[in-house]
Amino acid sequence: MSTAIVVGAGIGGVTAAVALQRCGWQVTVLERAPELGEVGAGISVWPSAVAVLEELGVKGVEKASVPSQPAGMRKPDGRWVVSAAQLGVEIPVMIHRAQLHDLITAEFGPAVTVRTGYDVRTVEQDADGVTVNGELRAELLVAADGIRSVVRGALYPQYAGPRYSGFTAYRGIADVDLDDGGGETWGSGRVFGFARLIDGRFYWYGTANQPAGAKSEPTVFESWHDPIPRLIAGSEKILQNDIYDLTLPLVPFVRGRVVLLGDAAHAMTPNLGRGACSAIEDAGALARHLGSAGELAAALTAYDAERRRATTKLVRLSRNLGRIAQTENRVVRTVRDGLFAVGGKLVSLRARK
Ligand SMILES: Cc1cc2nc3c(=O)[nH]c(=O)nc-3n(C[C@H](O)[C@H](O)[C@H](O)COP(=O)(O)OP(=O)(O)OC[C@H]3O[C@@H](n4cnc5c(N)ncnc54)[C@H](O)[C@@H]3O)c2cc1C
Repeated sequence: MSTAIVVGAGIGGVTAAVALQRCGWQVTVLERAPELGEVGAGISVWPSAVAVLEELGVKGVEKASVPSQPAGMRKPDGRWVVSAAQLGVEIPVMIHRAQLHDLITAEFGPAVTVRTGYDVRTVEQDADGVTVNGELRAELLVAADGIRSVVRGALYPQYAGPRYSGFTAYRGIADVDLDDGGGETWGSGRVFGFARLIDGRFYWYGTANQPAGAKSEPTVFESWHDPIPRLIAGSEKILQNDIYDLTLPLVPFVRGRVVLLGDAAHAMTPNLGRGACSAIEDAGALARHLGSAGELAAALTAYDAERRRATTKLVRLSRNLGRIAQTENRVVRTVRDGLFAVGGKLVSLRARK
């Protein structure tokens, strides 16, 4: 049986393990954290990623999630700029991260071994395989070790790596009673979004411009429309993460027998809500290429060609959307909101015709 090591057990790593298992590989997952799991927040999963999970045999994602309401975009005083229903955009499902992670790891069979509390420090490869920390060996290594990937650093020491976006993100889960479908509110240098989870609670996120490394609270949203202050007040725990993405051009996702996947390969800002979905799609593409008869090297080359092109576009698009969403320039904001409003009207007029 072919052997693989997956470094990192985030959503990308565990999906890669399921994908490799499905292709008949023996997989060892190495995770630095003492336990498997995900942070307490929600995540949007787009239809293309749900389809990949289903193809890989991961069941129950749609049952454990809520289709996001056709919400849209508001101003900080609560006035609607445009509704998603008006724009006719594709809508993702919303799920708790831990629940998604559990649904994926539930598919681990006897071919998958997990070692938690294992820190990967060195990776060396030769013509026949890859060695981790001088002691574990496999024919293939999938590096799903996140934006600050040690493996990527070892392969491409000259690469600039993570780049600060200029804004921080707050996230929480609120236990409040609301009759509001959610959506996003865009202000000056700030964005707030929320959506219902299957258990009735609400997942919310807010972003604010500030220097990297500054610790802060989401007090900047206190004067925003209802239910934003209620959502923040109704959350037991608030996470804060500065937002980074990876410098373009991205490095090749394959070098010899080492494959980069997920944020290790293409971390993007969360503006499109596609980072984890892209990691899931990477895993699906890897399984597809490994599953087609042919040499390992050819399969990995095909994976790189498909996924690097697709995710480079998303990293760029997400970064640009982030710049527009976070702008503090009054003129740019007025033009932005005006374009969204006119766009919504045109699309709904066309739909009525
Ligand atoms: C605010 C915010 C909101 C987001 N919202 C969405 C959304 O709605 N939809 C969406 O699709 N995406 C979203 N994303 C993006 C998404 O969270 C990431 O793209 C995704 O979690 C990346 O998964 P990953 O498995 O590649 O990496 P990670 O989740 O970073 O996992 C990497 C794992 O590797 C382990 N590790 C690291 N180094 C080592 C080592 N040396 N040895 C062993 N283990 C190691 C880490 O402990 C970790 O468990 C959001 C991101 C943010 C910040």
